[in-house]
Amino acid sequence: MAVPKKRTPPSKQGTRRSHHHVEPAQIMRCSQCRSPRANHRICPTCGMYNGRQVMGPAAGAAAR
Ligand SMILES: [Zn+2]
Repeated sequence: MAVPKKRTPPSKQGTRRSHHHVEPAQIMRCSQCRSPRANHRICPTCGMYNGRQVMGPAAGAAAR
C-alpha cells in the first residue's frame, strides 16, 4: 500500500478543504408565471420550459 512520505500540515489541509463547501442553489423566476424555479428545470407550477409547454399544469409535484 502506498504510504505518504510526509504528514499533511494543518494549513495545507485547510487550503485543500477551502473548496469543500455547498454552493447555494441557483433559483430563477419562471418567465411565464414568475414563480421560483431551478435553472435548467421545468417550471413546477406551469410546466413550461424554454417557452413551450412540456408538462401539464399542476403535474410538477406529482411527476417527481
Ligand atoms: Zn412557470
